[in-house]
Amino acid sequence: MFDDRIARARAVMEANDVDVLLLSVGADLPYLIGYEAMPLERLTMLVLRRDGTPTLVIPKLEAPRVVERPGVFDIATWTETEDPVALVAKLMGNALAAAIGDTTWARFLVDLLARTPGTSYRRASTIIGPLRAVKDAVEIDALRRVGAAVDRIAAELQAGHIPLVGRTEAEVSAELGARMLAEGHHRVNFAIVAAGENAASPHHEAGHRVIRDGEVVLCDFGGSMLGADGVGYCSDITRCVHVGEPSNEFADLYAVLHEAQAASVRAATVGTPCEDIDAAGRRVIEAAGYGEYFIHRTGHGIGVEAHEDPYIVAGNTTPLAPGHAFSIEPGIYIPGRFGARLEDIVVATDAGPEALNNAVHALAVVDG
Ligand code: ZN
Ligand code: ZN
Ligand code: ZN
Repeated sequence: MFDDRIARARAVMEANDVDVLLLSVGADLPYLIGYEAMPLERLTMLVLRRDGTPTLVIPKLEAPRVVERPGVFDIATWTETEDPVALVAKLMGNALAAAIGDTTWARFLVDLLARTPGTSYRRASTIIGPLRAVKDAVEIDALRRVGAAVDRIAAELQAGHIPLVGRTEAEVSAELGARMLAEGHHRVNFAIVAAGENAASPHHEAGHRVIRDGEVVLCDFGGSMLGADGVGYCSDITRCVHVGEPSNEFADLYAVLHEAQAASVRAATVGTPCEDIDAAGRRVIEAAGYGEYFIHRTGHGIGVEAHEDPYIVAGNTTPLAPGHAFSIEPGIYIPGRFGARLEDIVVATDAGPEALNNAVHALAVVDG
């Protein structure tokens, strides 16, 4: 599997005249070799040339963390008094063109630029991004499992089994996080809980606001769970519950949102440009008069990272391919009053869009 991913990366390198790929902190490295660099000051970097076995340059003290994969990559350790940048420069040979991971610390790139004056650099996302966007069978299976895990938590929320009234947003957020770990995630990435007027802020940070009877509670949560390849894959789901019966105004808003989300999911067929999926739901929201309150793109790709290619946004003309996995998450936000968002992860397949989240879409009403 990792051999296959490396071979595909090399084909893209060749097509782009890139001689060497340099990967450090971020999601590209675990995707390619199953190891995630520690985001610290010591350099970890995979040096992958167009042929030969790639080499993982790593601090000697972090080497015990590596699951060795003989034949897939070699390991070159450096001790506290050695210069890892010199080691990387040597392994690069006389590369004219390098692609370096987008989230590599700038300090290492600055030092590499000084060491390798004959090398031009570009972002590795131009090489790896399109590969990572198209999921293989192992990845889709991992996304399906992690999606089912957050579905079960959403169902508990919708059934009223997670207490809301009288608790703070932060307390409910902590409970969602604990439940994600209990459901097998190894990492919690975020758990937005936004009550009442806070639900009008799409990236609201759960705080000390106490949840009251008669208001909406928007919950958007996700984490990472290890797949069969030993790499973490992300979940991401949003459901709204209303404490007590909603007003007609809010019920109307939510009905429009529900219809828009379904319209975008239906539009997510292979060959459809990403921007058309965005337009399908946006049209529904605009026709109902809420257009100015839908203030973000419809969705983002998901995989090893919570946000990656392809982005479901106006201007992205990339046609959907089988294996593209992404969120469909329109929202309507009325400033100072309330808001709602509805989010599922969807995979494009030749048989049509497959939703990886199946928790009930209708607005759940729980007792106050
Ligand atoms: Zn989300
Ligand atoms: Zn999302
Ligand atoms: Zn639905």
